[in-house]
Amino acid sequence: MAQLFFRYGAMASGKSIEILKVAHNYEVQQRNVLLLTSALDNRTEVGEIASRIGLTRPAVAITDQDDLFALIDQQDDIAAVLIDEAQFMTKEQVLQLTHVVDELNIPVLTFGLKNDAFNNLFPGSEALLIYADKIEEMKTLCSFCGRKATMNLRLNDGVPVYQGAQVQIGGDDSYLPVCRRHYNHPDLEAIARRSQDSGFTAAAEFK
Ligand SMILES: [Zn+2]
Repeated sequence: MAQLFFRYGAMASGKSIEILKVAHNYEVQQRNVLLLTSALDNRTEVGEIASRIGLTRPAVAITDQDDLFALIDQQDDIAAVLIDEAQFMTKEQVLQLTHVVDELNIPVLTFGLKNDAFNNLFPGSEALLIYADKIEEMKTLCSFCGRKATMNLRLNDGVPVYQGAQVQIGGDDSYLPVCRRHYNHPDLEAIARRSQDSGFTAAAEFK
């Protein structure tokens, strides 16, 4: 029986590279996968799943108007559906995915953030936490210490911000994976040092 999976993690927890890996594993067995991502994500190209280690793949860019059941039902011979940036889906779309799993018997693997930069659930993540058959956390370390990062600190021009729009697309210079303690008390000197450098390349530079 197919299942609906939700793998969540903070920024830079390896979600995109995991999707590319899973896709590869299917394809070496001559099985087709359908890759979807959010049209909101324009960090590289719209309709591209890009990992931090440089691997990229095209994906179908979806908006909150798309009927995911219809989209997937139109495909021929799909062994699995892989979805990046799943937090941006609507509840209706998550319900459509449950029908894909239950009626079409196609496994759906979704990957995304759980909480936004202000520690509210994203709509897609909230629905996935309720409806997914299997939920797994993908772990990454806090940018400032060795604890697990469970939150994402948003930076605007290097300054932590604690209010604003839920959706603000950005990469490693805009968000840092952090533990709860460092979400509330980020190391401002480390942030300042880092923003003076040529750029943020990896959270590990903080350590
Ligand atoms: Zn920390």
